[in-house]
Amino acid sequence: MPVRCSDNAGASIYSFDLSRPEWDALATENKFRRHLHMPCCNAAVSLKRSRRGTPFFAHVRRGECTTAPETEEHMLLKRLIVESARRDGWNAVPEVQGTSPIGDWRADVLAIKDARKVAVEVQWSSQTATMTLERQERYRAGGVEGVWLIRQPGFPISRDLPAVVLGGKLPELTALLPADEEASARHRSEPEHWLQVLPIDEFLNALFGGRFWFGPAIGTPASVHLLGGLHYCYRCGAEGTVVSYVNLVTEHDRCWFSLRELGKVEAVWPEFNALLISAKEPIRFAYRTTKRGERYLCNECIHCGAFTGQNYIQGLIGRVAVIDAVISPAWRKAACRHAITFPVGEFTL
Ligand SMILES: [Zn+2]
Ligand SMILES: [Zn+2]
Repeated sequence: MPVRCSDNAGASIYSFDLSRPEWDALATENKFRRHLHMPCCNAAVSLKRSRRGTPFFAHVRRGECTTAPETEEHMLLKRLIVESARRDGWNAVPEVQGTSPIGDWRADVLAIKDARKVAVEVQWSSQTATMTLERQERYRAGGVEGVWLIRQPGFPISRDLPAVVLGGKLPELTALLPADEEASARHRSEPEHWLQVLPIDEFLNALFGGRFWFGPAIGTPASVHLLGGLHYCYRCGAEGTVVSYVNLVTEHDRCWFSLRELGKVEAVWPEFNALLISAKEPIRFAYRTTKRGERYLCNECIHCGAFTGQNYIQGLIGRVAVIDAVISPAWRKAACRHAITFPVGEFTL
């Protein structure tokens, strides 16, 4: 269901930019003047409404045009993408065609801000991974960053292919961030296959607000920086080393965690404790439970076992140790909650 057509002068008209009276007026005008054309094949246009009442442009006669018809979901997503991008100050236009040295591309939405051009493509029908990567390469060659919203899981998880799986049903679509490449369509409702599941508008806000991050890839070498300092135990008075923050650094990513934040990903802890053996200072952590039943991680005195709350050691940010590590699925999970790197285009440390 196309949301764009053009008038006799070649200017684009977008269905969702028009109020209901404007839409009706345009329909009447077009009946008399026949001044609107489909951008795909220049065919005459009729103004229609979907079953859900969303206005869209249709071919009066499809004729030779080979552009595949779109679903209601596809049309809604285009509107949401444009609206979300515009809210964040991007210049966003649906249904844009462009060229690159290795072939033409067509984007559901092209969003431009400063030097960045981001094409967002909704892939509702299934498409092979090879085809997705080939189209991504065409965007890249044309100086455009491609971002994909794909209905069928199973695409490669890579920094070069920023993509999420589309879940949910109209009108409540969701974005699923795959935790691994094994996820398939029947896993859509099983949380363990996804790093995060977000309402679609929340995902789009993150995307255009610069908060959609790839995070460190599994297998990447990393160093774990422990920050903290010396602290006197409130119970036994002995001096000991405590850790207040953990900084996970890879070639492309740098993730900050307070001990408490990192503790929320409990899968990290067996690995983290194994790493602590190579720290020069004896350091010990333990999980405690608050009165409300929340588990949280804190430093524990190596002499008497008393714990030190995060509040008492916030200001201690000296370097305690730097330990070599490798990004495991657990570390990636932790980093993706708190990463501060941006996979789509440039990133800075
Ligand atoms: Zn057409
Ligand atoms: Zn103590």
